[in-house]
Amino acid sequence: MGTMTTSYDIAVLPGDGIGVEVTDAALALLRALEPRMGRKLVCTLHPAGAQHFVDTGHALPDSTLAACRQADAILFGAMGLPHVRGADGTEVIPQLDIRFALDLYAGVRPIRTWPGLPVPLSNPRAADIDLVLVRESTEGLFYARGRGRIEGEGDAACAFDTMKITQRGTSRVCDFAFQLARQRKAQGRRGHVTNVDKANVFMSMAFWRRVFEERARAFPEITTEHAYVDAMALNLVMRPWQYDVLVTENMFGDILSDLIAALVGGMGMAPSADIGDAHALFQPAHGTAPDIAGKGIANPSAMLLSVAMMLDWLAVRHADAALADGARAIERALQEAFAAGAVRPYDFGGKSGTADIVAAVVERL
Ligand code: ATP
Repeated sequence: MGTMTTSYDIAVLPGDGIGVEVTDAALALLRALEPRMGRKLVCTLHPAGAQHFVDTGHALPDSTLAACRQADAILFGAMGLPHVRGADGTEVIPQLDIRFALDLYAGVRPIRTWPGLPVPLSNPRAADIDLVLVRESTEGLFYARGRGRIEGEGDAACAFDTMKITQRGTSRVCDFAFQLARQRKAQGRRGHVTNVDKANVFMSMAFWRRVFEERARAFPEITTEHAYVDAMALNLVMRPWQYDVLVTENMFGDILSDLIAALVGGMGMAPSADIGDAHALFQPAHGTAPDIAGKGIANPSAMLLSVAMMLDWLAVRHADAALADGARAIERALQEAFAAGAVRPYDFGGKSGTADIVAAVVERL
């Protein structure tokens, strides 16, 4: 009897700018991990992005979206180029279309401090930063995308964008945050969810808060608190180490996810996942970084950590512990490489390029 190697199909969308460079890094990492895990990750590249839009008139071809639906998971680089705009003046951002098309409602953005890498905050407790932001990703203010309207002309002109908050959309993302807090509690963390809203001003946000409170009752072992988004911007800089899981509306989450990435040194260390009930997409939280694209100096860590998140998600979904072991190996290898000072990325004032960091991680796997 021959042994069949368990394999998973990964749809890979490198995209634009440094998206392509960090995707190469991810593929090199997966190739090195496969024998260690005893699993195959069959990665198939698919076109999409701003450059593809320039070349073909399509930012997200149907065939690419179909491949995403078929795959076990989606790995995504970054998309968008500042000079490439649609007819209404907005950037070409196919990742938003994928989120909506595949109903990827939970945007998961974990950040933590990495020993060996400097952080902007001088308080020594910054070493303890370890939190996850869960951003609702299918409604909120982003519901307005493609639906905004301008009424009147000249001095009377008014532009409108509508925020949409639903019972179902809010319940499911709150449940996701509570379940995540439960998993983190099992790993020794606080088991605490902070709801971030603006319920003191907007009816839609007061509604959001009510749904959060309803869902919280199903998770009695998880402690909760509410924070207004403006106060949260302050607290995240003053004492980020006190937070565990945050859950918030789409636009607030968009803004706060950049803020929390800054707490641990910038976008280069911020992975993310966009998770739905049927599909999930994994990508670094950063964009295409046109300012450094093509130089080989992009920090691939955010992407490598997104690969770890993908392996963790697949591990749970397919009850395959070998994949979770692979995820831990990535984190450990990265941690060791930084802690030993073996590599330091450019965005942390170092001289290690993308390939140097990948090599340092692969060597330690
Ligand atoms: P988007 O709107 O798609 O998020 P953006 O241009 O606002 O794109 P990024 O592309 O994330 O934001 O870039 C923000 C800054 O962070 C840039 O100065 C960029 O060079 C830097 N940056 C982003 N990702 C990385 C990375 N992986 N390594 C090093 N620097 C990065």
